[in-house]
Amino acid sequence: MTAMTGIPLPQPTELSRPFWAAANEGRLVLQRCDACGHHRWTPQILCTNCLVEPFTWTEVSGRGKLYSYTIVYRAPLAGFEIPYVLAVVELEEGPLMLTRLVDAPTERLAVDAPVEVAFTRASEEINLYTFRLTDA
Ligand SMILES: [Zn+2]
Repeated sequence: MTAMTGIPLPQPTELSRPFWAAANEGRLVLQRCDACGHHRWTPQILCTNCLVEPFTWTEVSGRGKLYSYTIVYRAPLAGFEIPYVLAVVELEEGPLMLTRLVDAPTERLAVDAPVEVAFTRASEEINLYTFRLTDA
């Protein structure tokens, strides 16, 4: 159920290319503001906390908790394998990420459930950031 082929894939931009390059290596990185230390997602030109421009791509824990979720039973486009869990994850570092939960039995789904990043290969260039439930 974790294969993701035949779906529209992200098109890295100049701003997001470092994120996707790290994801391709199985690492989750976020922009961290050089002035205030705020982590942000999605990639932005300015800090969403203090509006300063300088930032550093920083590897983050990949751990967080389930902030919200829904189960999708109707494929939005051909290629999506249904059902799947569309989720918002709150990372330990703060940002919320819209994502897909993989290997997610519905009886274990609960707001605040612990999750960790679990990349899912979609193409040679794109390793999608997905998440899975953890025990701790
Ligand atoms: Zn800042």
